[in-house]
Amino acid sequence: MVNCLFCKIANKEIDSKIVYETENVMVFKDIDPKAPVHFLAIPKFHISSILEIEQLDKNILKELFKAIAKVAKDYNLEKGFRVVTNTGRDAGQSVDHLHFHVLGKRKFNWPPG
Ligand code: 5GP
Ligand code: ZN
Repeated sequence: MVNCLFCKIANKEIDSKIVYETENVMVFKDIDPKAPVHFLAIPKFHISSILEIEQLDKNILKELFKAIAKVAKDYNLEKGFRVVTNTGRDAGQSVDHLHFHVLGKRKFNWPPG
């Protein structure tokens, strides 16, 4: 998708600190971390949000969640971590390319703010 920040990161037109990637998915460090560990897990294929999930191949969706599980293990987040996908303006979505925040290494409040 032209002019999509995370498509550019996925295509390596924009640099990021890549933590893990496969042909279809990428996990990279958030530029403005909200926890000691803060990664973003994305499909390399553009969809705007979870509302378009039917456009994403189910194998890629599984690959994405497997990537999240892998980085959680690799970065020793067994004590607890949070996976968040903000959807829409009221939830704070600022980049319209599906992404899952992976946050760890601190305590998190519930309910979230
Ligand atoms: P959202 O606000 O849509 O839930 O999450 C977007 C996230 O992308 C934010 O946490 C923000 O810090 C991160 N972000 C924005 N621009 C960049 C960038 O250029 N590189 C990286 N690595 N993260 C970014
Ligand atoms: Zn995109």
